[in-house]
Amino acid sequence: MTIFHYDVDADGIATLTWDLPGKSMNVMTLEGLAELNDGLDKAFADEAVKGVVITSAKKDFAGGMDLNILAKMRDDAGDEPAKGLFEGTMRMHHLLRKIERNNMDKKTKKGGKPVAWACPGTAAGIGLEIGLATHRRFVADNPKAKIGLPEIMVGIFPGAGGTARLVHMLGVMAASPLLLEGKMLAPAKAKGAGIVDEVVPADELLATAKAWVKDATDADIVKPWDAKGYKMPGGAAYHPAGFQTFVGANAMIHGKTQGAFPAAKALLSAAYEMTMVPFDTALKIEARWFTKVLMNPSSSAMIRSLFLNKEALEKGANRPAVADQTVKKVGIIGAGMMGAGIAYVSALAGIDVVLIDQKQDAADKGKSYSEGLLDKGMSRKKVTQEKKDAVLARINATTDYAALSDVDLIVEAVFEDTGIKATVTKAVEDAIPADAIFATNTSTLPITELATASARPEQFIGIHFFSPVDKMLLVEIIKGEKTGDVAVAKALDFVRQIKKTPIVVNDARFFYANRCIIPYVNEGARMVSEGVEPALIEGAAKQLGMPLGPLQLTDETSIDLGYNIMKATKAAMGDAYPQSGADDVITSLYEAGRLGRKANAGFYEYDEKGKRQMLWTGLRDQWPNADEQPDLTTVQHRLAMAQVLEAVRALEEDVLLDIREGDVGAILGWGFMPWSGGPFSWLDILGAEKAVAICDDLTEKFGERFTCPQILRDLAKDGDSFYGRFGPKAEAAAA
Ligand code: NAD
Repeated sequence: MTIFHYDVDADGIATLTWDLPGKSMNVMTLEGLAELNDGLDKAFADEAVKGVVITSAKKDFAGGMDLNILAKMRDDAGDEPAKGLFEGTMRMHHLLRKIERNNMDKKTKKGGKPVAWACPGTAAGIGLEIGLATHRRFVADNPKAKIGLPEIMVGIFPGAGGTARLVHMLGVMAASPLLLEGKMLAPAKAKGAGIVDEVVPADELLATAKAWVKDATDADIVKPWDAKGYKMPGGAAYHPAGFQTFVGANAMIHGKTQGAFPAAKALLSAAYEMTMVPFDTALKIEARWFTKVLMNPSSSAMIRSLFLNKEALEKGANRPAVADQTVKKVGIIGAGMMGAGIAYVSALAGIDVVLIDQKQDAADKGKSYSEGLLDKGMSRKKVTQEKKDAVLARINATTDYAALSDVDLIVEAVFEDTGIKATVTKAVEDAIPADAIFATNTSTLPITELATASARPEQFIGIHFFSPVDKMLLVEIIKGEKTGDVAVAKALDFVRQIKKTPIVVNDARFFYANRCIIPYVNEGARMVSEGVEPALIEGAAKQLGMPLGPLQLTDETSIDLGYNIMKATKAAMGDAYPQSGADDVITSLYEAGRLGRKANAGFYEYDEKGKRQMLWTGLRDQWPNADEQPDLTTVQHRLAMAQVLEAVRALEEDVLLDIREGDVGAILGWGFMPWSGGPFSWLDILGAEKAVAICDDLTEKFGERFTCPQILRDLAKDGDSFYGRFGPKAEAAAA
């Protein structure tokens, strides 16, 4: 066995130690499942073996399932993919059920062998599902460990018994946050939640687990659901308490997902049904719903974008082949909102930071932002005093450009003004080493134009962060016309160091993310001007799975930002600017001082504490509701296509170079319908032919902005898809 090592000690306790070769983290593969099965069979068949401990040789237990397995199970089943998935899932159930029941006599519940779980660190997905099947769970008091079932985050749900076991252990109510939100818990919290039995010092982990196995009695190893008289905590579905739980849970799920995520609903259906049947039937129910979710194109699209492609981009799928560019010291110019955030994430990643502003007070204020976040972390017991001191010690807040003499990267985040940026660029380049890379965090100014202020434009690049920097996962890297490979590699290595996900795009107005999101908010404002009921607009967006409706989003980012972007775009485009009702709505709110959340007034009303209330009734006074309201689908198509067609145009114009970046960037950058896997995945799910028909219909009814891009027409004509033609497999075949 090469993945699970098997040994038996002098007390007759077998240890199965998971150690996937060549990886720092265990992930479950088909070979891994087979070896775990063989190891268990060997231990249960050997009379000299008293019991088993399952553990890991790595610092963590497991990161989860290698999600490629699911695609393989489906593909291997040929014409009957659902059958392949169902049977594959049932094989996992049999394996984990074997841990629970092994040699036990079904009637007397005697003669089984105790199996304990000794988990040294993080256990996610199948990692925890293995643990849940054992008779006693020991976890090391590792401060970095996270325990949970995050499957829902990639559009599936725990399908290797995790759903059935948590529901049967904790009841539906207590299991809900773990299953439906994919919450990962620190060991002590996992114990508090009842999914772990004991948290022990790391160096005593294995010995404690073995000692338990040695002394375990027959009664210790009967799972509650296998014992006579088992009652589900909180009551089964038909019990009055269970009934209340499901009414509440249904409402909660619908409120949170607006019906847009198939996995959440399927999970709840599975949980409901399994409360009424014996445990082995519950596992079958789980497998059927799991298969149904896997057969939904949304789950493959989410897995592809949020797991496989996100990881590929983080590992440098599009990094030029130049030497390592790990950043040692970064100079950040401008200690405002963005600069302060960039300083924090850099110092947190162990990079030395020089944080510069015009006045010492401003630089210090930028540094104190990090202090505030670290204090918050300390109050939540996530950050120690030593860590706080170390991170703050890495940030040198100053006004002195001489401190930049040994930086290898600059991130400029001063005011959004070409003249100021040009002056700063020149002054900084005089102070930094000749081979340092200069990045600007501009959100709207073309990189190529800003690079004209640089004496070395091949070392000049855009690194566009999103706000708030410490929370947002995406970073957009923008190549100017003259940007060279080393600058791109430097930006990518920096983004890897600060643990964010990069996309690399070419220079064009608003780059990629803002280019797509602006038409979305504009379409919302335009509909207001047409007399579409504002609540219909917001509701339609939510039901598409957008995190915020376009009107709420405009309030959050502020009406004046929208107004300024509109003015700047008009100035840049001149007569070609497509004036619309959206401009009237934004201008009117701007002039009325309804600047959004920060002004406690915008498209929405807010109470004195700033809590959002209802949509502002004044909207309807100014733009009365039209007598005839559009149907929900029309509103949704307008809102979705406004974004998606920009993504396709960005691809057509070579701004976007890789559709994987387009999909991952959309979900992480502005929360684009995560269930869809991103704009290109959504068009593929829809099918090019149908997408063309929708565009043509919208163009006829609402105007040229919905004109179908040629690329999409070509795909429809050829019966092809974006991933079929532009995905990595297609590119590899063409190369
Ligand atoms: P901000 O006004 O909060 O901060 C700008 C800082 O730059 C101020 O502290 C100012 O004192 C300092 N500054 C100005 N001129 C300087 C000079 N000559 N030398 C040193 N420091 C100088 O602005 P912000 O929101 O942090 O934005 C900064 C940049 O980031 C802009 O280019 C903006 O477009 C971009 N950006 C902003 C966001 C956002 O959501 N706010 C998002 C992405 C990118």
